[in-house]
Amino acid sequence: MINRDSGSGTQLIPVPAFSDNYIWLLCKDGHAVVVDPGEAAPIEKLLAQHKLTLDAILLTHHHPDHVGGVKALKAATNATVYGPLGETLPACDVRLKEDDNITLDNFNLELSILDIPGHTAGHIAYFGYLDSGKPVVFCGDTLFAAGCGRLFEGTPAQMLNSLGKLKVLPLDTLVCCAHEYTLANLRWALQVEPGNPALQQRWKSAQQLRSEGRPTLPSTIGLELETNPFCRPLQESVSDAAAAYAGVPLTSAVAVFASLREWKNNF
Ligand SMILES: [Zn+2]
Repeated sequence: MINRDSGSGTQLIPVPAFSDNYIWLLCKDGHAVVVDPGEAAPIEKLLAQHKLTLDAILLTHHHPDHVGGVKALKAATNATVYGPLGETLPACDVRLKEDDNITLDNFNLELSILDIPGHTAGHIAYFGYLDSGKPVVFCGDTLFAAGCGRLFEGTPAQMLNSLGKLKVLPLDTLVCCAHEYTLANLRWALQVEPGNPALQQRWKSAQQLRSEGRPTLPSTIGLELETNPFCRPLQESVSDAAAAYAGVPLTSAVAVFASLREWKNNF
């Protein structure tokens, strides 16, 4: 899975953790960076197996399934821990907020920070261009394939605004979500938009990937714009379905989003 002396560029690997988390691993020329290590063991194993030096740990938000492995990895590797300014974290060397930038020297990678509250109050995302030229975003539990995070510490308006920041990223941006929720999300999305051909196609390809035991991620911003109801509140098919679910006319994108979130919570 990992080619230690890739020479050809950065590898981006979703490492499964718990039942449905992914810890994203960047790896290049013997160096590694991880995003949201909820547990240390799968990462420690890979670092040892492939003799990788862990340069940095990037955190998107404070939930235990995203930060549970930080202390052990920090103790074992002394990697620099980056995390959101406004959240309580087990260890954090560099606190980040909107428009901050960090540079990962061994990856020739600069990442800029987006504040994307809603799932948690201080949730951030990391956006940048891999050395292949591919744009990539680590968005934690905010944007999922055909879904979005639950609103534990924010309002529908905040979450819609946060998704708006992700939606304007380049269409080919690799969307690195922190959970394999894709099939369950698509099942719901097909209830919202049964007549969306891109969604029907995505359902088929995601089923195929999962039946082969492969991740459905990363997604892309383009694919989310075509198939994710939470990214499409102004599409008539979506807003009509959300209004039918709510049982009242919905007159704003926020009202549509709130109805969709409620619908998905109860699905
Ligand atoms: Zn979370």
